[in-house]
Amino acid sequence: MSIQQFDLNDNIMYLKGVGPRRAAALEKLNIFSMYDFLTWYPRSYEDRRQITKICDISIGETAIVYGRISNITFRDIRQGLSVINAILSDGTGHLRIAWFNQKYLTEKLSSGMRLVIIGKVTRDSWSGSPMISSMNSFSILAPGEQPELGIMPVYRSTAALNQTFFRTAMKNLLNRMPPIEEILPSEITEDLHLISVDRAARAVHFPKDAEELFDARRRLSFDELFSIQCGLLLIKRQTQDEERGISHKKNGKLVKAALESFPFELTGDQKKAFKEICRDMEKSLPMRRLVQGDVGSGKTAVALLALVKAVAGGWQGAFMAPTEILATQHYELFTRMLEPLNIRVGLLSAKITRTKKMREEVYKKIADGELDIIIGTHAILQEGVTFKNLGLVITDEQHRFGVAQRAMLEKKAEMIPDMLVMTATPIPRTMTLTIYGDLDVSLIKQLPPGRKVVDTRARTGRSRKKIYEFVKDEILKGRQAYIVCPLIERSESGTLTYIEPATELYKKLSAGIFRSIPCGLIHGKLKPKDKDEIMEQFRQGKISVLVSTTVIEVGVDVPNATVMVVEYAERFGLSQLHQLRGRVGRGSEKSYCILISDSKEGIAKSRLEIMETTHDGFKLAEEDLKLRGPGQFFGENQHGLPDLKIADVFKDIEVLISARDAAEKYVTDDKNLEYFANLRKNLALAYGDKFRQITEA
Ligand code: ADP
Ligand code: MG
Repeated sequence: MSIQQFDLNDNIMYLKGVGPRRAAALEKLNIFSMYDFLTWYPRSYEDRRQITKICDISIGETAIVYGRISNITFRDIRQGLSVINAILSDGTGHLRIAWFNQKYLTEKLSSGMRLVIIGKVTRDSWSGSPMISSMNSFSILAPGEQPELGIMPVYRSTAALNQTFFRTAMKNLLNRMPPIEEILPSEITEDLHLISVDRAARAVHFPKDAEELFDARRRLSFDELFSIQCGLLLIKRQTQDEERGISHKKNGKLVKAALESFPFELTGDQKKAFKEICRDMEKSLPMRRLVQGDVGSGKTAVALLALVKAVAGGWQGAFMAPTEILATQHYELFTRMLEPLNIRVGLLSAKITRTKKMREEVYKKIADGELDIIIGTHAILQEGVTFKNLGLVITDEQHRFGVAQRAMLEKKAEMIPDMLVMTATPIPRTMTLTIYGDLDVSLIKQLPPGRKVVDTRARTGRSRKKIYEFVKDEILKGRQAYIVCPLIERSESGTLTYIEPATELYKKLSAGIFRSIPCGLIHGKLKPKDKDEIMEQFRQGKISVLVSTTVIEVGVDVPNATVMVVEYAERFGLSQLHQLRGRVGRGSEKSYCILISDSKEGIAKSRLEIMETTHDGFKLAEEDLKLRGPGQFFGENQHGLPDLKIADVFKDIEVLISARDAAEKYVTDDKNLEYFANLRKNLALAYGDKFRQITEA
């Protein structure tokens, strides 16, 4: 490929060093294009500017050592624990190296090889001399290859794609990529002392020094947050349009009938939230409201009432769920509740509308107004879907939907539909203001009465056998259980604490203690189709024990599940554990949440103890913030927040505020706003004329 033709939108397969096989592995990480790869930002960095001589090494430090290995031995200590030992020599001394649970390395390592190892130096309990057994990383050098020095990026890697691959391929990409054109107006870059996007895009992968890295992260975070702020501003402007807003009818018979058909009375908080929603809906100014409510607080009932209210006035309503499973679940519930009221509910999902014909049938019904309420995933947003008169849109678990998607929905109708966003993630108030700046907030804090608290226990690994026996007992009573693991597969870098991944735990349990019980495995790397299939089987009770990663975290409702076991619980945030716990205790049976952790750290322990006594999601969120600091609060998947690749809304609060100010100050016309709201996408297109085409179009 010649440089002239280089385009960041090209398939990653064409990058030197990638090819079809690796491209397939990259796809699993959602990396499809050169751009996706370029924005696959390092997870962390390794300071490899200085190699330590073995004779100078001291216990407690994290050192980079370089030498030849010899005396390689392998030993199976007991089930689940094996070790490879070797000696590393660099001419100044010898150092013992140990790899735990990485048997596959026996085939890769051989005497005389040169290695660069980075890890924490500890004291060998046998000899008392220094050793490395907890490695951050290591690399085997090819003959003639020199150890690489500098600040090295560390990427999220997989079994198929290791660090060396990422580093080499990233260098290839950066070498071939022509300069990225600046897309921010110079007033902004100069005013805020932002480095150029081109320099930032490169330096974030291979920074010269800490300062350059800081500047690069700041610039890229700015772009990300700025695009969000522009999006919010754009939406706000578009929606402050009374002429295009809908005044829904005051509550009449239909809403009353729906209320009466519930097998329960609304809680005070549900009533209050619904009242706020009604007030907004009846106004001609479009509603933009966020309903925050703890898991199980009964947001769905409120959503249903709002939809009925819209339908009562002759409008259509749409309800978007983040996954097919949840969409189907809601569809079933809504159909059951609303058919007696003669409200027509339809489901729009990739599964139901597999063929073009089926799809078009549903589309037609939506367009003709033959369906009153449409439930679906983001399939609802697809081009082919036009509503006859969409009056209300509800999105469930907002963090799966971006600002751009919200804007897209608004374009679908002549009149701007009212919009309601539901989220179970407690978001600190400052966050709500900056990230959901365009939304008003209703809170549902109260849980429905009679809700039994989930009996929560923190236990160590020593009780594992007893815990599994307990799970078995529950299954024999006809219940179901979740067992959650933090990892999917064996990870590359070995650490001293072994984490049994979901895939292996599943194998072990389904062949062992749960031999006679139908087990299932679900994780994020499965195809959506397979995930749905397994979830469906669990829902129908065909699977009794579901081993899983956190993919089951949101929304799944299986009332018959009464046990949630979380392995290596110290690895999860409190809010996350609370979400997981919310998956059980949904039926009439007593439910249990067992948190297994062997962590000896005081913080980890006290965190898990808090879980035993606290059942309020908002309180847990606060505790989490206190204990772990804001940076880690949302965990890796940035709950409740737009999908951010680099910015951290807590640490980068200064950047967030400048981004908001800049959006308000500099971007005055709507076209510009729209362009910058798509900033990240536009970065990929920012070559030559394309920039102008977009801004002038
Ligand atoms: P959320 O979506 O907020 O997590 P759901 O709407 O799924 O919660 O409600 C959880 C459960 O509580 C459902 O089974 C629902 O039928 C029930 N529920 C909702 N509101 C009430 C109420 N006011 N009283 C009793 N049960 C309720
Ligand atoms: Mg309104």
